[in-house]
Amino acid sequence: MKEQEDIILRNGMVEDQLIPKGITDKKVLAVIRNVPRHLFTAGKSLENSYADHPLPVGEGQTISQPYMVALMTQCLELKGGERVLEIGTGSGYQAAILAEIAKEIYSVERFDSLAQKAQVILEGLGYKNIRIKVGDGTEGWKEFAPYDGIIVTAGAPSVPEPLVEQLAEGGRLVIPVGGAFGQELLLISKNQGETTQEDICGCTFVPLVGKYGWQG
Ligand code: SAH
Repeated sequence: MKEQEDIILRNGMVEDQLIPKGITDKKVLAVIRNVPRHLFTAGKSLENSYADHPLPVGEGQTISQPYMVALMTQCLELKGGERVLEIGTGSGYQAAILAEIAKEIYSVERFDSLAQKAQVILEGLGYKNIRIKVGDGTEGWKEFAPYDGIIVTAGAPSVPEPLVEQLAEGGRLVIPVGGAFGQELLLISKNQGETTQEDICGCTFVPLVGKYGWQG
């Protein structure tokens, strides 16, 4: 019974929130219909898990609203086969969405407690292509660079240089940049060694705390 209810809620989320707001990437819409978001939202009701707002996940952090997850994923233009770096594992929900489309996901989280919780949920769901590490994601994850896509799910005061360095040729980096209480979502693309930048929209994320982020 419950199983069916969550599928209905996910389909509703796609039809009522994501498509009307301009999410068109078929792969992104398909995986959002598929991934059980409520398993990542720490005991919140089913309805609450699929409502279009962020939710607390512990340590004062939040799982982003479904629309923002969809929009950021769409910005990466993943076709399958990519290596993607995520900064800010949080609940692990965004990592699951990425893992359904791309080949390998590397995700860095500051808080050990969140990384552990996410790891358990993702393993329980059977994902084998997500690697999580605890550390300062503003330094990227050099060992596995370069990345075809980098997604930063916390707000930065400026674009951390190591992330641009670790972006592959033809790669795309999506990151909220601005003040502590509001940012602009930026899409940075690297082509022939040159980067170009596009403003996507205004947004509000918890702070990216680290060497190339806000000082904690
Ligand atoms: N992508 C997450 C949402 C993350 S909220 C999800 O799908 O649930 C932002 C996360 O970024 C928080 O968990 C926060 O602890 C983490 N964070 C902030 N600064 C960081 C840093 N420098 N390195 C790694 N993680 C960081």
